[in-house]
Amino acid sequence: MNYSFPLADPRVSYLARMQKRRILCRYCPFATDSAFDLQNHLCTHAFTKNTYQCDVCLKFFSLSTDLLTHFKTQHN
Ligand SMILES: [Zn+2]
Ligand SMILES: [Zn+2]
Repeated sequence: MNYSFPLADPRVSYLARMQKRRILCRYCPFATDSAFDLQNHLCTHAFTKNTYQCDVCLKFFSLSTDLLTHFKTQHN
């Protein structure tokens, strides 16, 4: 049986610490090493979800006011 685990090597774990994974937010320069933190942070970008759809051209908009503006300018 071979119970040698590469991560038990102190040099490897040192490197792992040096290359600590950074999880980047795709919407802003926010970075973290915890996926949980990123989930919390992404809540601040909830407004980026496209939740309003134009009945005419089926485009999506994040804000109802954006949809209204779009409708007035594009379909009026
Ligand atoms: Zn962000
Ligand atoms: Zn439209």
